[in-house]
Amino acid sequence: MKKSISITSLSIPHYENVLYFTDPSVGLEGYIAIHSTSRGPALGGTRFWPYASKDDALQDVLRLAEGMSLKAAGADLPLGGGKAVLIGDPKVLKCPDYFHAYGEVIESLQGQYITAEDMNITTEDIQLISEKTSFVVGRSGLAGNPSPWTALGVFHGLVATLGAALPNVSISSLSFAIQGVGETGFHLLTNLIKHGAKHISIADINPDKRQRVQQTYPFVKIVDDRTLLSLKVDVLCPCAFGGVLNSHTLPIIQAKVIAGSANNIFLDPYKDPYAFHDQGILVAPDYLINAGGLMCVHHELIHHVSVETLTTQLRLIGTRLKTLYKRAKEANLNPFSYSLQLVQSLL
Ligand code: NAD
Repeated sequence: MKKSISITSLSIPHYENVLYFTDPSVGLEGYIAIHSTSRGPALGGTRFWPYASKDDALQDVLRLAEGMSLKAAGADLPLGGGKAVLIGDPKVLKCPDYFHAYGEVIESLQGQYITAEDMNITTEDIQLISEKTSFVVGRSGLAGNPSPWTALGVFHGLVATLGAALPNVSISSLSFAIQGVGETGFHLLTNLIKHGAKHISIADINPDKRQRVQQTYPFVKIVDDRTLLSLKVDVLCPCAFGGVLNSHTLPIIQAKVIAGSANNIFLDPYKDPYAFHDQGILVAPDYLINAGGLMCVHHELIHHVSVETLTTQLRLIGTRLKTLYKRAKEANLNPFSYSLQLVQSLL
């Protein structure tokens, strides 16, 4: 098939490079945003999503790329922040030619951006991309799918967050609501159950994901995705999309602890954290708690995939959050904004 890849560079303040690319011959359309390479090459996954508009996709990739800079800095990794989004229906568009064309777009950046998995991208897709570029991590047989590691890091962070908000309360006595039981949400669910959680509700817009939970853990309650946020639970775990914490959702959320895998959980990270803090809700900063996958794929990049080192690094997520909550309390500040200032100073 004759390819017709077109790449346009956009000038966006505070971003080193933003590309808009298309290849009509395979239905490829998307953006790559490189927020910063000051700490190292910009590493961040590719999200495949049927965005309502090009502008929605651009806003998403910009927020996600900045989030990756924060995540790498917060985890003390020598990496910069970048991200990619592919626009369209993954079920319709996915095929080898599509991912080969996308691999060529990544290759054109000569390592300035390194990709990995994000929503709706699988290890098989990563394999196809890697046939056209070496600037890709999370390949099968190497680091593989980073999601279970992300989920384990989220679990350590969740335990630290519970320790700060509800000390001396056991996981088995708490109730949890998980929004999204895809790659990370399902593994977080498994970790919670392994550690004694009994009262869990989940929601997912994908019937296959709901069915997997029903078959694996029949005691888990499955609820409508429109009611999940308003459930009367102790802990809310957003594991789907970003912007879920905002001025519209604050009045309906009943949980006092929020910790999950989703990136960019606050719609307005400079305003919303104050409002949630004022309501007595402790929110784990997303870019600190969900860094496990980045730690995992970084091992592939440095050719040192070690489960022992990774396990130790993941525990550090809990330690870092514990320290953050203690210091923020001493300074009488909300932990999210306090850590945002600290991490931004590392970029
Ligand atoms: P995924 O696509 O495997 O899972 C997301 C799930 O959320 C899907 O099953 C989807 O059907 C569901 N969903 C979408 N909209 C929903 C809604 N309105 N209500 C309920 N469920 C809904 O993605 P993932 O890899 O698990 O990533 C989830 C989040 O975690 C994303 O924000 C991602 O950026 C972030 N994250 C993922 C990783 C990773 O290693 N995969 C690492 C860091 C951050």
